[in-house]
Amino acid sequence: MIDTPFLAGKTVAMMGLGRSGLATADALVRSGARVLAWDDNDAARAAAAARDLEIVDLGAVDFSTIDLLVWSPGIPHTHPSPHPIAIRARMADVPLVCDIDLLARARPAARVLAITGTNGKSTATTLLAHVLAVAGHPVSAGGNLGIPALAMADPGPRGRFVLELSSYQLELAPSLALTGAALLNISPDHLGRHGGMAGYVAAKRLLFDRLRPTGAAIIGIDDSHTAGIARDLEAHGRAPIRISASRRLEAGISAPDGILLEDGREILDLTGLERLPGRHNWQNVCAVYAMARAEGLTPETIASALATYPGLAHRQERVATIGKVAYVNDSKATNADAAEKALVCYDRIYWIAGGRAKEGGIQALAPHFPRIRHAFLIGEAADVFAATLGPQVPHSLCGTLDAAVAAAHAMAQADPAGGVVLLSPAAASWDQFANFEQRGDHFRDLARALAERGAAP
Ligand code: ADP
Repeated sequence: MIDTPFLAGKTVAMMGLGRSGLATADALVRSGARVLAWDDNDAARAAAAARDLEIVDLGAVDFSTIDLLVWSPGIPHTHPSPHPIAIRARMADVPLVCDIDLLARARPAARVLAITGTNGKSTATTLLAHVLAVAGHPVSAGGNLGIPALAMADPGPRGRFVLELSSYQLELAPSLALTGAALLNISPDHLGRHGGMAGYVAAKRLLFDRLRPTGAAIIGIDDSHTAGIARDLEAHGRAPIRISASRRLEAGISAPDGILLEDGREILDLTGLERLPGRHNWQNVCAVYAMARAEGLTPETIASALATYPGLAHRQERVATIGKVAYVNDSKATNADAAEKALVCYDRIYWIAGGRAKEGGIQALAPHFPRIRHAFLIGEAADVFAATLGPQVPHSLCGTLDAAVAAAHAMAQADPAGGVVLLSPAAASWDQFANFEQRGDHFRDLARALAERGAAP
């Protein structure tokens, strides 16, 4: 845990009392600050009051008595329209920051490495932490990953913090002084919150403004937005380390065909890394490799650490193998874009999909339909998905995940060539589950129960 002694005796307002808000409030109280806590949600306020936090309506408080406003990054404070509390704080010149900023202020001399991007943040962050730890460095990973900044373990004076940062957090952490920063990719996301694509790209670009002068700037160049930022960094005298998973780079780290190249030299075959399948993961590996090299690790050390990465739950997580059939939990794929990353990795797919449909449905996945032996559709989206699949792709309406797993298992086991039972829903989970984690956990339980019973359906 990280304390904030620089706020002892100060009055700190806190907006947003979710998991990271509560962890931050605990740290502030522990450090001797007076905390005035607020959340627009009744239940969140009640939970905070039960922890003895002082609940104060920040919509009515006199901001001239407040030193700092700690803002939960998920709450809009600029676009689509600024929250009234943010407006009041700004009018009173009260700084508005998130918990990441407090971590940076609490540990100004620490080596802090940060990763952002539209996709792959959690994978790259946990992979980098794993590589550093295997190489013998004390390391603590957190941030957007789910471990609130001030609840992170302190890696000690010679250790490193590895942070997953969202665009929302980047906007609220002006004190960050990073020793390494990696931007993986940018595709349209959260546009309402950033006032459009230009605002979103600008928020991601902030990562490099938070880098120390000697820090390593690592940037994917496989989309036009990040490629533009790389050129811009160069024009401003910052030599970025470019990474690409789609083309060979003579300078930088690339893996166009799954062979990792450092400045054009072959280093490592990534195609055998079972926990990091697919081109999207090659991009994540390139970023981590570049970051680890900048931290002084040798190619050999990095290569052996990559081989022992355990993988993340719900992202193409292989949960069981029965006979010639693998059972893969990709519940995190809540839209077609994410599901595509998994579909391209396998042939002979017994595909479980559906839930609450996102805009566009699964239309964009049509080029991959030939890989699908049969689709098992669940949840609200089933009819819409069935209409898109049409007569070319055999499919069944299964209703629930339980029914879909049973049917997919039976059919895959009857296939002499085997295949993959893949939960990659291309839809949100909220119609039948609390979140994607619960959906993935249930799939894992079902698959493991089948594995315990043996191969017979
Ligand atoms: P994030 O933390 O940014 O949400 P994750 O590492 O949790 O990203 O991966 C979520 C999903 O995004 C994965 O299941 C995969 O479908 C996709 N993904 C992972 N890495 C990348 C990447 N580099 N580019 C594009 N998509 C990716």
